[in-house]
Amino acid sequence: MEYLRLSKIHQGRLNKGDELISTLIVLLKEKNIQLGSIYGLGAVSSAKLGYFNASTKKYEERFFDENMEIISLGGNISLKDGDIFPHIHVVFSRKDFSVVGGHLLSPTVVYAFEFVIHEYSGKPFVRQFDGDTGLYLWK
Ligand code: ZN
Repeated sequence: MEYLRLSKIHQGRLNKGDELISTLIVLLKEKNIQLGSIYGLGAVSSAKLGYFNASTKKYEERFFDENMEIISLGGNISLKDGDIFPHIHVVFSRKDFSVVGGHLLSPTVVYAFEFVIHEYSGKPFVRQFDGDTGLYLWK
């Protein structure tokens, strides 16, 4: 475990119609945020979620073509293959008040999205493939 220092807090929003992850990556690259955490609220017009099946060590993906509210969105920011990589999990609520959640994937289209990014100072964490889990974990 490492103790990190909070360097900056960025607060903002994305626009209706933005693809959430790719737009976020552009923003992270513009600000050169390589190490941090993200929290967000809002709504989406559609979303793709992943579920990591530990038996097959593969992600199962599902696309939800519906308006859903972002009840909770949290993630971390580190490096994977030399690129800034946000790892984001989310819980959505649906029209019938049921919830779905998982690992957030593209394409996910923003209806409204407000976020807070905590940027940390220090050496970025780097992801590498872990054969034991089949996941890209921090070194
Ligand atoms: Zn995940």
